[in-house]
Amino acid sequence: MTKEKVIIIGSGPAGLTAALYTARAMLSPLVITGNQLGGQVSITSDVENYPGFEEAVTGPGLVEQMQKQAERFGARVLIDEVTQADLNGGPPFHLKTHGDSFEADAIVIATGSSPRRLGVPGEEGLIGRGVSFCATCDGFFFRGKDVVVVGGGDSAVEEGLFLTKFASRVRIIHRRDELRAGETLKRRAAANDKISYIWDTVVEEVRGNGKVEAVRLKNLKTGAQSEQATDGVFIFVGHFPNSDLFKGQLTMDDHGYLITDKAMMTNVPGVFAAGEIQDPVYRQVATSVGQGCAAAISLERWLAARE
Ligand code: NAP
Repeated sequence: MTKEKVIIIGSGPAGLTAALYTARAMLSPLVITGNQLGGQVSITSDVENYPGFEEAVTGPGLVEQMQKQAERFGARVLIDEVTQADLNGGPPFHLKTHGDSFEADAIVIATGSSPRRLGVPGEEGLIGRGVSFCATCDGFFFRGKDVVVVGGGDSAVEEGLFLTKFASRVRIIHRRDELRAGETLKRRAAANDKISYIWDTVVEEVRGNGKVEAVRLKNLKTGAQSEQATDGVFIFVGHFPNSDLFKGQLTMDDHGYLITDKAMMTNVPGVFAAGEIQDPVYRQVATSVGQGCAAAISLERWLAARE
């Protein structure tokens, strides 16, 4: 059993900012990374809307800098995953990882969210065999190939544009006839002749024998079914919060997002939350960083008031 003053669960922008601020407050935080070091942004190709950088920065590059900055002030980063959390009756709060168990006086939960799946036949079995949730990770394997992207939000269009660096053709399949994505991305996609759209359409099945070969489609307006041959299916249809560990212990909304007060504190005093685990609305690197900062300042004040 290792005793810690502050544990931060999650290593995306919210967690690393909470680490920076608590480290600078001399609280020597321990960051437990989770299974995706750097969180969602670490699988994002380009970040163009995080202030302070005139040119785009890569997602992995940005979180690497955040980690190094927090470590410079004394934050420690443990590559492991919290598998069990006992938050009631604390502090101290009890956490277990694959490799150790911990006690902490205060916690910041920054476990973020994960890509949502379509939940259609063939999707699960063909993950890594043409089905992907990460263009940055897998785009390279589709040089000269034909891929489809599912979704109509910023992620779908941005990652679709990224895929045009490799693929010969990118078809974006969207369930409506209007994109949710912002204007800049829409304009960029319109100017890219490798991108085309299949509107009002959902994927009902991913087909393939050992690797993706086609998707079965349904037009929601006409009901017509069709098959589209493709080498890859990149799915960007939103996210779900990684809050399973805290069910029954922390207050959540109907979708599993943690509920926090203005000080970023959950219903359990001493347990704070920041980033996409408690924010279904804004979900930007900039807002996650702000929430991580606020959680850390509140945590520091909460600890000081107890001592
Ligand atoms: P999102 O904005 O929630 O968009 C999800 C898309 O998937 C929507 O177009 C939605 O359709 C569609 N969808 C949802 N469930 C579906 C299903 N079962 N079958 C087919 N389509 C489905 O998610 P996101 O694009 O990942 O973006 C998340 C957040 O990150 C947003 O706040 C976004 O602004 C931000 N983000 C920003 C940037 C940027 O600024 N460069 C880049 C990436 C992400 P409907 O439109 O019909 O609902």
